[in-house]
Amino acid sequence: MAPVVGIDLGTTNSLIATLEEGQPWVIPDDDGNLLLPSYVGMDDAGQLLVGAAARRQYAAAPERTIKSIKRQMGTAYTATLGDQSYRPQEISAIILRALKQRAEAMLDEAITQAVITVPAYFTDAQRQATKEAGEIAGFEVLQILNEPTAAALVFDIDSDESETVLVYDLGGGTFDVSIVEITGDVTEVLASHGNNRLGGDDFDRQLQRHLADRFLQIHDTELPDDAAIQARLLQAAEQAKIALSDHAFTTVREPFLISQGETALHLETDISREDFESLIKPLLKETLEAIDRALSDADLTVEDIDRAILVGGSTRIPLVQQLVEDHLLGTPVSSFEPDLCVGLGAALQAGVLSGAAVESILVDVSPHSLGIAAVMDTEFGPMPGLFSPIIPRNSVIPTSRSQVYYTAANGQSTVEIEVFQGENPIAKENVPLGSFLVEGIPPKPAGAVQVEVHFDFDINGILTVTATEKSQGQQQSLVVNDTQTGRLSSHELRQSRENIASLFEALAHLAEDEDAEDAEEEEDNASDNGGHWIDVEATTDESE
Ligand code: AMP
Repeated sequence: MAPVVGIDLGTTNSLIATLEEGQPWVIPDDDGNLLLPSYVGMDDAGQLLVGAAARRQYAAAPERTIKSIKRQMGTAYTATLGDQSYRPQEISAIILRALKQRAEAMLDEAITQAVITVPAYFTDAQRQATKEAGEIAGFEVLQILNEPTAAALVFDIDSDESETVLVYDLGGGTFDVSIVEITGDVTEVLASHGNNRLGGDDFDRQLQRHLADRFLQIHDTELPDDAAIQARLLQAAEQAKIALSDHAFTTVREPFLISQGETALHLETDISREDFESLIKPLLKETLEAIDRALSDADLTVEDIDRAILVGGSTRIPLVQQLVEDHLLGTPVSSFEPDLCVGLGAALQAGVLSGAAVESILVDVSPHSLGIAAVMDTEFGPMPGLFSPIIPRNSVIPTSRSQVYYTAANGQSTVEIEVFQGENPIAKENVPLGSFLVEGIPPKPAGAVQVEVHFDFDINGILTVTATEKSQGQQQSLVVNDTQTGRLSSHELRQSRENIASLFEALAHLAEDEDAEDAEEEEDNASDNGGHWIDVEATTDESE
């Protein structure tokens, strides 16, 4: 049987894992690195860089490097590399394709099927974009799986007892807290809550600003808003943050940041763990509130939680562990390879879906209420523009639900169905998912025409909305506005796939040419650019 893989497509780092005899393991690159930094760039010769090489060039050439693309998934954002612009799903596809090549080189087999994880709190548009990224990269996406659910699967491996587990996942760019119930081989998400714009990147930025303030204090000069300088400061901030997980103090040294006349100005300053903690505490408070909200959504209290699992690289910060432990009043808090366990769980789930020897059934929930804008009766009379939820938050998915609505005006010939997700009673305050018209409604008095709106929410968290006018049976389905969600047509998908494939082919040729040249040159010269094409070279070598 061809190997199946699970992929953690992270904001900061990504990884690919597979199964061997029912046990998941992370596939490393040639140098033994398990994580692939989620960076994509072009070098000054116009060659594609993925992973560590792109990350390395970020400080020097931020304008040619893309990071944290996960934050743009599902939006109409475009990134420019060289003279081409790319959609977020295309940039993510480049990362996925690099992971695919890494796995194919290591396993010496073609890989076509994958499970890809997303934060439980990702919207429909973000899930759809992730699925498209997988398809552009050449995968059949077996499932878009919630990250906390994937993590819980790892902890479930040897457990046959029923447990209520709180999964606290704080990564580079997203935060999720989920409450899952594991009973035998069934994992059910009882509730999930979070913020898909909160994570270690924010801590880096807080520290970056703090470093800029220190520079001002020391030199009485403000650092210019220059991209390369700010990128250096941000990288220094992340290094300092990581050091402070193990040490009480660290020294930041950034020489020659700017020059003042003839004098070069350096930044050299000590940062204490306390300094750092006071910068991030307000952000962490927000995560504790999310714990309370998830508990109350699940109708549980802290006492009902058997254990908590910490997931995501940012949970290595001691203050995070301490605050979660204090907040959970003595509930055991465990952590296992917090940066790897989501990918490992995705591999387990890929095994389940492909019929490998792993047994687990997965029950997942819709993280938002999904519904439409409608005129609704209130104590002040009928009010337009209110949110009428059809699938309530935390419904177990897949699910299908219908609701019947009536025309609001005499002789009304069209009905506009505007679909939203969120919890606000005012429809427009929620996230719009798209809208469409049901036309040709027979002229009748207000309230005499019934329109049934059907929501079908599938296992990947993707929503199809169908509206049917009852008397004549005409039907319309949701057409999502491309500019709002950044969703691609099948034609665009095909084109993107070809573009990305040709980028990689060009790279492979280049790598072959380089190999030939390298054979003639001194060995040391070869290492200069080698890191940039590590994934591609590996594939080329293995497939020859
Ligand atoms: P993830 O998205 O799970 O890969 O987590 C990535 C985030 O974890 C990034 O913001 C990293 O800077 C952060 N991170 C990784 N290791 C550590 C550490 N030892 N201490 C603090 N943050 C870390």
